[in-house]
Amino acid sequence: MEIKFYNTLTKTKDIFEPIDKKTVRIYSCGPTVYKDATIGNMKSYIFMDTLRRALRYNGYELQHAMNITDVGHLVSDGDEGEDKMLKAAREEKKSPLEIAAFYTERFFKDFERLNIDKPEIICKATEHIDDMLKFVEKLMENGYAYETSTAIYFDVSKLDAYGILSGIDLRRQRAGARVEVDEEKKNPYDFALWIKAPENHIMKWESPWGLCYPGWHIECSAMSNKYLGEQFDIHTGGIDLVPTHHENEIAQSKGATGKIPARFWMHCEFLLIDGGKMSKSLGNTYLVQDIIDRGYDPLAYKMLCFTSHYRNKLNFTWEGLENAQNSLIKLKEGYAKHNGGTVEVSDSEIEEYKNKFLEAINDDLNMPVAMSVVWDIVKNPNKSQKFANLLLDFDKVLGIKIDEPIQKKTEEIPTEILELVEKRKTAKANKEWNLADEIRNEIQEKGYSVKDTKEGTVIEKI
Ligand code: AMP
Ligand code: ZN
Repeated sequence: MEIKFYNTLTKTKDIFEPIDKKTVRIYSCGPTVYKDATIGNMKSYIFMDTLRRALRYNGYELQHAMNITDVGHLVSDGDEGEDKMLKAAREEKKSPLEIAAFYTERFFKDFERLNIDKPEIICKATEHIDDMLKFVEKLMENGYAYETSTAIYFDVSKLDAYGILSGIDLRRQRAGARVEVDEEKKNPYDFALWIKAPENHIMKWESPWGLCYPGWHIECSAMSNKYLGEQFDIHTGGIDLVPTHHENEIAQSKGATGKIPARFWMHCEFLLIDGGKMSKSLGNTYLVQDIIDRGYDPLAYKMLCFTSHYRNKLNFTWEGLENAQNSLIKLKEGYAKHNGGTVEVSDSEIEEYKNKFLEAINDDLNMPVAMSVVWDIVKNPNKSQKFANLLLDFDKVLGIKIDEPIQKKTEEIPTEILELVEKRKTAKANKEWNLADEIRNEIQEKGYSVKDTKEGTVIEKI
């Protein structure tokens, strides 16, 4: 059956077929491991997982690489600001590599909890410094890069077109462009490939330009090229990566190889919280752990993600999660109902359901429609083993462990306590230490202890 994916590059749903017909080569932008991934980040990885599973379901093999940014992702997506890894290392009094190892482990723990398949190749930036350096040297040789007193910059004016993914028009942007002003840069949109390390910079490597560290964008170009070749099938990431990171990846690859690295660029829209942005000061940067702490099965969050298309914004509320958890329970009950059922169902009926499901996932991963097919089967009054088998088959794409019991926490913490814990988190984020202590006392008076551990906040009955 024909597969169609929306391609940010062409702005249309295009027919998808892998370059080598059999194996799909994918690159996904992975996490910057200096803090915990949020449920917002996980929306993008649930999309990535569904894509993998849908391609497998269609009979394709996968060669999928995802990077771990453990060096040099600066505070903003541009080049200005303090290095996030170094900032976290200083604040947590650990080495940058310790910080990276700690948060990488936690990131993959969330993958397990959400039943997200790990890509075949996980590549760490710090283990590919030579590949990045070679890429920068190639760009220098090809005349796409130049040296200043602080960095090696990519010269965007050398490209026939910069901005093809996000559609920015450089001629219009030039006057008063809101990008970093660096006197030595030739064009405002030139970006750093390789940065000269200041004296006290911890992570730096020898290079023809002295001790340096890589820019963020170069890592994805160097690693995708190494593992997937000059041109591969699909590049994925969150929608925020389109205007800077992915635009710059395309620029780098065009400068080095003359090719746009991926044929399909697929982007996941953002998760909103209570209709707005997730932010530290609002205390609503929820983690998968928060979902578990409130007594929900993490897979209920996957169900919530399936209620909207990956290219739409999704609004997260605890009420919404409650509904998603109820749906998950009903699905599992539906599977159990059919399992062992003896009603005879024709093969053509099964085939029809299967085709509808396949049509939905092959239509740019239309999960809301795919789920409606699942519900039709669940609600079918004829209890049949064939339906149970079909649901289990669909679960290869959904990954919601339809045949397993719901994962419940043994003891549920009362909402009142959880709300106080949230308030304390906000107070701490705002550095209101006295208020945070007062709230902790209040929690204790109500019979619970709250501890900040390496694994996050732990709430226990005293
Ligand atoms: P980061 O670790 O910040 O580089 O982000 C990892 C991935 O999560 C990237 O693909 C981002 O685009 C994506 N992402 C970040 N915030 C959100 C959000 N609120 N909703 C969906 N995806 C997000
Ligand atoms: Zn990337």
